[in-house]
Amino acid sequence: MTALRVLAVASEIYPLIKTGGLADVVGALPAALAPEDVLVRTIVPGYPSVMAALSSGETVMSIGDAFGAPARLVVGTVAGMDVIALDAPHLFDRPGNPYSGPDGKDWPDNWRRFAALSRAAADVALGALSGYRPDVVHCHDWQAGLTFAYMHFSAGPRPGAVMTIHNLAFQGQFSPALFHMLGLPDEAFAANGIEYYGAIGYLKAGLYYADRITTVSPGYAAEIRTPEEGMGLDGLLRARSGVMSGILNGIDADAWNPKTDPHLAANYTKKTVADRALNKTALQARLGLDQDPTTPLLGVVTRLTWQKGIDLLLANIPTVIAEGAQLAVLGTGEPGMEDGFRAAMGFHPGRIGAVIGYDEGLAHQVLAGSDAVLVPSRFEPCGLTQLYGLRYGTIPVVARVGGLSDTVVDANPAALGRGVATGVQFAPVTYEMMRVAIERTAALYRQPDVWKKMQANGMVSDVSWSDPARRYAALFRELLPA
Ligand code: ADP
Repeated sequence: MTALRVLAVASEIYPLIKTGGLADVVGALPAALAPEDVLVRTIVPGYPSVMAALSSGETVMSIGDAFGAPARLVVGTVAGMDVIALDAPHLFDRPGNPYSGPDGKDWPDNWRRFAALSRAAADVALGALSGYRPDVVHCHDWQAGLTFAYMHFSAGPRPGAVMTIHNLAFQGQFSPALFHMLGLPDEAFAANGIEYYGAIGYLKAGLYYADRITTVSPGYAAEIRTPEEGMGLDGLLRARSGVMSGILNGIDADAWNPKTDPHLAANYTKKTVADRALNKTALQARLGLDQDPTTPLLGVVTRLTWQKGIDLLLANIPTVIAEGAQLAVLGTGEPGMEDGFRAAMGFHPGRIGAVIGYDEGLAHQVLAGSDAVLVPSRFEPCGLTQLYGLRYGTIPVVARVGGLSDTVVDANPAALGRGVATGVQFAPVTYEMMRVAIERTAALYRQPDVWKKMQANGMVSDVSWSDPARRYAALFRELLPA
């Protein structure tokens, strides 16, 4: 097998720049794919944190006019990854996160920032860097979507094109008035092109011109082809069903390993899972919860948003209390939800503990110290916290949607009878069914043998990148010329 060269195009890459799961995937794939003989180079915007990491990088290309001013491509190795940065200070040298300024508002020129990224990526894909020609270009989410449109309208042979959807809710739609500034031929602005209900759709463009489409779980791949979950793109996705598949995300199995996790009060393995009790005590102490080893402690680590079903959890706080359980919450998000947990702490001291904030170390402690982890998402492309739960012996209690339904085996009588259950699922995603799920979880907790078996099942399931990486590699190889 010859090594296969992949050019990845993304707006985030861990550990350089991260707002969500996208960055984790883009940052994990290079190392995960190396054993499959796939060499990944990743082109990203030159945000301040990226340029700082590439301070000793090498300039490999100058761009006279990158949507308004000159720019350059800088290459370097960061955290073992081969990174190309689009250094365009007029576009990316800004405070705030990758998409919005300190006031939280999207940058008004995002259309231009990510068109510039895509234009540069297409040029590299087509051989602009001497000595480098990728076999496959792998685009992530809408920010990379125009890459395949630029490739399509360029002459000469072009590499294979794989588009991965991390979250269909973000589509990159812009005014049609901007079309003439994108540098695409008029024919591109069509239903069979980048036009999307009269506007410009960056994700739509990527999906239309890609040779293969993937998303981050088989369940989500099926859901987004329905009118209910397709967010306006289901028609196109149904038309492209033949080239579409779902590949689950893995987790960083080094960072999330209960045996070595430096954040824990006590490390443990499947054999020493009883030592989790020390983490429970420590978590109860940190969050001001009653020191009670026998109460079921339910953990939550999440963005506090409607997507994540957090309103349903707030409504179910009386259920938690009625079941004699405790709740440990770590999250930030919608102010009303943050206030909801602050109020719940006041009403139920010792039973509800919440930290409103983003805290990587505490996230590990919540996973290791809770008996179960709740993930009541209304939709969930893949989800990571339930995977951490499996690895940490923390029973995932999840909505039966997307990647959650693919990764957790519900403790129904059949699964319990065969000894294969790993968690609790509920559907539909309503207050009522979540209440039932919490009640079921508490009942399972009171059956220690059943609980221990579920913990053990989860702890041996493979949630690493090995299997997903094999699937991506196989998909990339399908696109090599025969
Ligand atoms: P999404 O990307 O939609 O937010 P995922 O489950 O795919 O959801 O990934 C969320 C990641 O962010 C997980 O690694 C989770 O542990 C982490 N996370 C979310 N909120 C917090 C927080 N407040 N503190 C620490 N980590 C968090």
